[in-house]
This record gives sequence, C-alpha cells and structure tokens, in this order.
Amino acid sequence: MEQKIFKQKKIILCVDDEKIILNSLRTQLKLLFQNEFEYEFAENGPEALSIIEELKSEEKEISIIFSDYIMPKMKGDEFLTKAHEMIPDAKKILLSGQATLESVQFAINEAKLFKYLSKPWEENDLLQTVQLANLESTKQEAEKAIASALAKSQFLANMSHEIRTPLNGVIGMLQLLNSTELSEEQKRFSSIATISSENLLSLINDILDFSKIDSGKLQIEEIPFNIREITEETIEILSFKAREKQIKFYSIIEPNLPKLLGDPVRVKQIITNLLSNAIKFTSIGEVKILVSTLSKTDSEIELKFEVIDTGIGIPESKIGKLFTAFSQVDASTTRKFGGTGLGLAISKELTSIMKGEIGVISQDGKGSNFWFTAKFGFKKDEICYKSFAETEKNYNFIYYTHNNQNTITNKFNELDLEIKITDSYETSKQLILENIKIKKTLYFFDSHLKSDYEDFIEFAKPYKNLVTIKLLALGEKFSQNEVFKHIIFKPIRTSLIEQFLEKQTNSKTLNENTLNSEELKINQRNKFKILIVDDDMINQTVASKLIAKFGYKSQCISDGIEAIEELENNNYDLILMDCNMPEMDGWEATKTIRSRTEKAYSKIPILALTADAMDFERRKSFNAGMNEIITKPFKSEQLIEQLDKFLEVK
Ligand code: ADP
Repeated sequence: MEQKIFKQKKIILCVDDEKIILNSLRTQLKLLFQNEFEYEFAENGPEALSIIEELKSEEKEISIIFSDYIMPKMKGDEFLTKAHEMIPDAKKILLSGQATLESVQFAINEAKLFKYLSKPWEENDLLQTVQLANLESTKQEAEKAIASALAKSQFLANMSHEIRTPLNGVIGMLQLLNSTELSEEQKRFSSIATISSENLLSLINDILDFSKIDSGKLQIEEIPFNIREITEETIEILSFKAREKQIKFYSIIEPNLPKLLGDPVRVKQIITNLLSNAIKFTSIGEVKILVSTLSKTDSEIELKFEVIDTGIGIPESKIGKLFTAFSQVDASTTRKFGGTGLGLAISKELTSIMKGEIGVISQDGKGSNFWFTAKFGFKKDEICYKSFAETEKNYNFIYYTHNNQNTITNKFNELDLEIKITDSYETSKQLILENIKIKKTLYFFDSHLKSDYEDFIEFAKPYKNLVTIKLLALGEKFSQNEVFKHIIFKPIRTSLIEQFLEKQTNSKTLNENTLNSEELKINQRNKFKILIVDDDMINQTVASKLIAKFGYKSQCISDGIEAIEELENNNYDLILMDCNMPEMDGWEATKTIRSRTEKAYSKIPILALTADAMDFERRKSFNAGMNEIITKPFKSEQLIEQLDKFLEVK
C-alpha cells in the first residue's frame, strides 16, 4: 500500500462545463508540469463524481481537484462537498469568476477548500497553486506512511511480547523439569522439548530482527566491550554441539586488541550465526574463528572475522544468492538441517550497519570460509588483554594432556605467556621438580587422565608452591581435595585463565583461592533477598524457582503498587521487575521507587524482565531508571550472571 502511494503518479481532476476552459487548463497544466501528473476531465459534478468512484475502485486516488462554480446539474460547492466525503485528502480548488461569498464560505467549511482562484487566472497563480497543493498532499502521505510503519512496528512488538510470554513459561519450566530426577526416557523427551522450544525462540528472534531491519528500526548500540570475551562466550555456548559431532572447535584472536566501542550483542549475533552454520554443515574436521585487525586509526579499528570450516562447502553457482533473505543452497537443506534462510541476510544487514562487509570463499565438498568485517571505535589506552609477561618471572606453567595442545598454547600466547605442554606424566613431574624451588608452578591436569590421578595427589602434597588446576568438561562433577582445589571448564577460555591468574597473582597465600567454587557463591547468595514483581503466576514460579536453585531467596508480588508497599515494609536487595502489568506497570513503579530519594530502597538495583525485544522498550526501561534488561525467555545462567553482577557475588 505504501509503495503504491509513492510509485503512482498523482492525479489532477478538472471539472468545468465550458469545453474551452477545460482545454486551456489541460494545455497549461501539461506545459507547466509535463508528465508529472495524470489528468482527468469532466464537464459536470455527477460525471466527476463517477470518475472519482471508478478510480477508487481501482485503488487510485485523486490528489488535486479544480472545479468551476456555476455548472448545470450540480454547483461547484455542492460537488466539492460530495467529493470531500469520498476523498477527504484531495486538495480542492474552486476556480470561478462568479462564486458568491456564501458559496465560498460553504466550500471552505464543508469541503475544506484548499484555495480559491478567480477566473481568468494568471499562469503563475496556477503554477503556485498546484505546487503548493502537491507539496501538502505529499506531506500528508508521508505522515500516513510513518503512522502505518509505526503501527506495524507496534504490532510486531505486541506479537513478540505475546509469543515470548508463554514461551518463557515453557522454556523455564523445562529447565526446572530437567533439574529433577528423571528416567532416561523422560530425559530424552524433555531434552527434545527443550531443543524445540529454543529453536522456536531463535526463529521468532530472527523474524523480529528481519522485520526491524526491514522497517529501518534496528539500532546499534555504542558501548565498550571485550571482543575476546564475546567470541569465547559464543564458543562456549556452541561447544556442546561441536562436541556431539566430535569436531574440533576453537578461536584464535589477535593479541593486544583494544577494548572496542560498539554493539556486542549484534557482533555476537553474527558470530553465533556463522559458527552455528559452520558446525551444522560440518561432520568431520574442525570449525574455527579467527579475529584480526584489518586497519586502525587513532580512534577507529576495522576487524576481520573469519569462520572457517571443513564441511560440505557451497557450489560456486549458489554463492551469489546466499546473503538474500529466505535463501538456502537447496530445498533439501531445510529438510535435513532446518533453518529459515534468514541468518545470513540478517548478518549482512548487521555488518553493513557496522560499516563492514560480509562474504564467503568456499569449495564444494571441502569447506567454507565465511568472513565479515566491521568498524569499531576504541579508546587509545584501553587494551582488553592484560599482559602477564611480568608474571612469568615468578611463575611456571605446565600442562599435562593427551590432546588440545595448540589451543591452550594459543590461549597462553594471547596473554604473552608460555606454557610447557607434555603428554608424558613422568616428564610433567620432571618439569615441576626443575622449577618448583624458584617459581610457583601452575600445573594444568586433564580430568580424563584418571590413571595418574592418585599418584599425583601423593606427589604434589609436599609442595606449597604447586597450584594444580583440573580441566573439566562441562557437566563433569568436581570433588575438591587437598591437591586439586581449582578447576577451569573446557573449552578453555583465555578470559578464564586471565581471571584465574589475576586471582593467583593478587592473593597472599596461594591456597586461599578456589576458582568457580559454586558452593562459595551459593553461600554469598543466601544473604540476599530478591523481590520478583510479575503479574503472571507461571513467570513468578519460573523466576523464583530458578534463582532458588542458585541460592537466592525471593518473594513474589503481582503488580507495581503492591511492590512499593512491600518495599516499605521489608528489606530487599534487588528487584526483578516485569514491565507490562495491570494497575501500575513496571516502568511506573520504577519511576516511583527512584523518586523517593529519602528512602533507602530508592537506590535498589532494578532489573527489567520483559518479553518485549524492541529497542524503544529498552530505552523506555533505562529512562524509567532500570539498571538492566533481561529479555524473556531467559536462560537461568543469564539471569544468575546479572544478579551476581549487581549483588557483587564473586
Ligand atoms: P539457515 O541456516 O537458517 O538456513 P542462513 O542464512 O544462515 O540460514 O544460511 C543460508 C544457507 O546457506 C544455508 O541453508 C546453507 O545452505 C548455506 N550455508 C550457510 N553456512 C554454510 C556453511 N558453513 N557451509 C555450507 N553451507 C552453508
């Protein structure tokens, strides 16, 4: 509909019972405006009305009407009034030498007359009148188009909310169900239901993103972030899929990259998209992501990301269309691998918003290299990698493993550190003994090397300078003992090593630290009480049960007014606030809480729990004074990560 309005030529209708006048109008208008408009001519009111009717039935609308006043069958003011009822937006001009004051008044009031031109008219007057009327009507159309786009995006926001809310219930309840005692068969059913509901969520997200891009609504944030963290987080999230398929999966990130200014969520979205495609289409070999600098000025850096796989590849003839919406290499792809064909189209739009490009080099049957570039701002002195070169003087790093050698070497290199790797247990002990008297030794031990475990516990006991870190696969159980106090989960992230080293080098006595000690965190979380405000009982249960599993206590309340009453009477440490609620919504409640500056609770962290993923909802939440936004449905880890952050649980 909007497109039609802009593509169609506008129509001018001229009505006069004198042929000579109609002819002269026709000649002048064509001379003045050439082919800019289409024209219709009628000799009286009823004839003109039936032209309007006919054009309307073809979904065409007249934009400007010139009408004589004295005509047989129907006078000009009466005709224009009738025409106004049919096409209120058309600009109506009375063209007459004899119209009475009353009739002009009538036409102004009843037909919203745009202008009165007296006969004989000046050519310049005609020119200006048509130009002005045209301008007015274009403005009106643009306003209408904007209103309709707004309605469309509002509709999308509502739809997204309506779908996400029940989906939140499904995903949350499944997470809870998965953490209960289930038989093997029940586990299988529940895990299929979980995967399906997560697929449905990512589908909804894709469609929503695509519509946002389509209507120019997608906005890019500019906040500081660490590209290594983003990349490694994505690797961690997707690693279980790679493990299932037994393919090698890792990242190589250029050392010494600065902290970037840009939109981490969107960068992560593109990386996730390309990596999950790469895993999906690879059955043997490896998938890796490389991040490197293309160019750099004082304030801007251009990065190149390459996702390289050894999968099925793409025939050359199909590459051209890949980045257009709903395009898949062949129809059987959907049947075999699923997907919508939207991922690459969205990634292309996102990279172009980030002043970058996207492309692929691929060999049918051999694998693909999907790359993209993007530009980011950065502050000169903010390096996101800390160098541990100094640390090396006092520390010695040893890794005893039977696999994964390159990955961990790379991770240490990113930190300017060197690690000695060996696949022989005896050599690893030798390496410890060589240095233990002069340097603290960090010894990394793969959890599957069970045969040497008992021996190592005995061997390590006397050495206070030896810190042993067990590398665990996700989901693997860890039982702490005197020697094995620390764990790092695989796949190893540079940021985890970095955090670990930071703790180690800061601590006075080595044995005080325990990385990832969930028990310690649970003890800390027990002290905090969270107020959950949500009108939906299912959402209340999901949130409170999920956070209880991680040690947080909570109280549930159904609307904003009750929440404020509750804050008056009891102490809380944080609020999880739904946004759309009856009585008083979450934004209103937040504003009220923030405005009561005399009360201690006015400073409480408030995290919005919202099913609305649209940008304006986000802005509205931050403007109301909320500290963070968590989009429903959320993963329990996401929620806990935010709670821990605001309550400083470390
Ligand atoms: P979806 O994966 O949801 O179908 P995408 O836009 O992400 O949509 O991908 C479009 C198509 O491009 C895929 O269906 C597949 O045919 C092809 N494709 C994408 N990535 C790869 C890859 N790494 N290897 C082979 N084919 C790929």
